[in-house]
Amino acid sequence: MNWNEKMGNRTNLSSASPDAGIYPRILIDRFGRTFNYLRIALNEMCNLRCIYCMPEGGIPFKPKNEIMTTEEILRIVTVVSELGVNKIRFTGGEPLLRKDIVKLIENTSMISGIDSVHMTTNGVLLNRFAETLQRSGLSGINISIDTLNPEKYIQITRRDEVVRVLEGLEAAKTVGIPSIKVNAVALRGFNDNEIVEFVELTKNYPLTVRFIELMPFDAHQIWKTGKFFSSEHIQKELKDHFPKIKITDGTATEHSVFQVPDYAGKVAVIPSYSRNLCGNCNRIRITADGKIRNCLYAHNEFNLRDLMRSGGTEDEMKELILSAMWKKLFDGWTAQRSGSNSRKSMTQIGG
Ligand code: SAM
Ligand code: SF4
Repeated sequence: MNWNEKMGNRTNLSSASPDAGIYPRILIDRFGRTFNYLRIALNEMCNLRCIYCMPEGGIPFKPKNEIMTTEEILRIVTVVSELGVNKIRFTGGEPLLRKDIVKLIENTSMISGIDSVHMTTNGVLLNRFAETLQRSGLSGINISIDTLNPEKYIQITRRDEVVRVLEGLEAAKTVGIPSIKVNAVALRGFNDNEIVEFVELTKNYPLTVRFIELMPFDAHQIWKTGKFFSSEHIQKELKDHFPKIKITDGTATEHSVFQVPDYAGKVAVIPSYSRNLCGNCNRIRITADGKIRNCLYAHNEFNLRDLMRSGGTEDEMKELILSAMWKKLFDGWTAQRSGSNSRKSMTQIGG
């Protein structure tokens, strides 16, 4: 039964008004989805300029005093852990540019109820940090690499860094960061001819390569230029190149996960544009300036930072988080149609 059919049978919760102000004391929405996974953007700044994410000159980055402090981030994690969140991901911007990154991981992993702390990084600084990150209690790392070819890497990121990123990946393997994933945004006419090379990364090491659909979050709207490569097409390419590839298990939002027989790792396809896994969503997002977003495609935000800065108590923070998630709309399409997005880059949302 798909998400729409299942929801047809759940009129009791889904017909409740999002603004009713009466919601359960657990992290659940009107459609019965529960939330145990918090993704926090640690900053907006980045040492790359991926063309689908940021313009060459960057975006108007928020001043430091608007970005959450170490203490604010740890306070939020403590509060959400008491609401049942057990998985944290640090993202950005580029999280390794934050000076307190190791302290944040160490302290977060010690908070009662938190089972795992992951990070998404572009990997440029990973070689330098890998050993410290491994010791800090990091449970897993997603490294974004859209191409393995040095010239194409410069085209896509506007920086000559692929060698350092690949060294970072090797370092993460060498020090034994428990879970390693490689994220590649699939772009027609750019990296669709590298699918085999990416899959080969899974041959001898148990990492997961994830092909991600391009999303319409960038000032230049490069996604309107015909580069969009759908999850269905990615899967077809995979099956054409690896006819013996088999479906296997993945996380809730990994559309289809495959494994080439006898390969150590896995390959996943993430339908981040197609949005056909919204029924599995278990995510809360917090932007670097401390706003709760109940969906990647949402337009309304809930200002947790200002609540904290104006003396808000833990109970008040919990109320804001519970009510924000209760108001989550049916799916990413409904959320997108509900207004216009004031944030023009994934660095401002936290990818
Ligand atoms: N800087 C880090 C990195 O690149 O991994 C973390 C932040 S970045 C915004 C997180 C992820 O979002 C990256 O894997 C990146 O490729 C992805 N991303 C950014 N803009 C995107 C877009 N318009 N469509 C699809 N994925 C995007
Ligand atoms: Fe930076 Fe990540 Fe955006 Fe690329 S995708 S510009 S690495 S924040």
